Amino acid sequence: MKKVQIGIIGGTGLGEVLLKEAGGETVDVATPYGPPAGPPIVANWEGIDVAFLSRHGPGHCFNPTMVPYRANIFTMKKLGVQAVIASGATGSLREEIRPTDLVVCDQVIDKTLHRTNTFFDEGVVAHVEFADPFCPWLGGVLRDVGKNADTTVHPKGTYVCMEGPQFSTRAESQLHRQWGADLIGMTCMPEAKLAREAELCYALLALPTDYDCWRPADPAVGAAELLREILGNLQRVSQNALSLIREALKAIETPLPPCRCREALKSAIWTDKSRIEPAIRERLEPLISRHLAD
Ligand SMILES: [Zn+2]
Repeated sequence: MKKVQIGIIGGTGLGEVLLKEAGGETVDVATPYGPPAGPPIVANWEGIDVAFLSRHGPGHCFNPTMVPYRANIFTMKKLGVQAVIASGATGSLREEIRPTDLVVCDQVIDKTLHRTNTFFDEGVVAHVEFADPFCPWLGGVLRDVGKNADTTVHPKGTYVCMEGPQFSTRAESQLHRQWGADLIGMTCMPEAKLAREAELCYALLALPTDYDCWRPADPAVGAAELLREILGNLQRVSQNALSLIREALKAIETPLPPCRCREALKSAIWTDKSRIEPAIRERLEPLISRHLAD
């Protein structure tokens, strides 16, 4: 199988756009966690081999709780991917982050409750560092190209990841603002944690489509009209994200520069190597084999 270096995980909006835009060939990948949300598409884009994955699968069939996050990240690892650009539709918690702007996130607050958030749940214990959840190098590439973009690209933002699928109450929305958060979404966790465990660089581009519920809605705007506006924003912000990602791919030099994300397991495996069962070694081979070599 051809090795690719860059993965793109498209969330709501961008996932659909990417599947149409990507061209390329569909590949089948099996993982110990079942199949990914949909078959990844491998294509050469802007001179670089890229693997695309639609987070919610073709037709948007997996809700945020049910997305096969482990299979998705493991698939990227098996394809040889070293760095992932992920996107996610969000609500904005700040007046200055307007719908259809883009945000390169730098922090996250994890409020998810019902998702398996590790590859190291049995047979081997690992504790990766996660103080900075997103890759500084890959985020830096997005920030740099964002300076010349036609759309406003905010260079940082704190993303609250909630379980969903329902949206926040007004009290929760106001609480998230008081916490200092800038965006609310449902999907970057456990994805970013799993990417770190898989030693992938991972950057998150947030796509704000609305102001969540903290901001009083205009009483003159009806519910149907509001929904139309949000869907229109989703289309526009997805196109903005697509343009920015294309520019980022042009700016990425290969071979990729070294990054500490890709060494995340170096001192993180606490289990005595001699006690890791062959079945576990085999299951996690793409993730841990180089750290278990004597
Ligand atoms: Zn990195």
